[in-house]
Amino acid sequence: VKVSIDSSRCQGHGRCYSLAPAVFEADEEGYGRVLDPEPPASLHEQVRLGASNCPESAVVVEP
Ligand code: SF4
Repeated sequence: VKVSIDSSRCQGHGRCYSLAPAVFEADEEGYGRVLDPEPPASLHEQVRLGASNCPESAVVVEP
């Protein structure tokens, strides 16, 4: 899968990088940032966890 964050939607709640720190991190201002845009299969569960818990639906996951 490919994962990205729509920065126009991200409000910096930090749910993604709190729940899935192997996939997301905080940038200098606390907004979410993707560590690897094409994470390995072992991290797909974390990708889904971060996406489903983002209150702004800012995490975009493509097959
Ligand atoms: S959970 Fe969503 S709104 Fe919060 S930092 Fe992550 S991408 Fe941004």
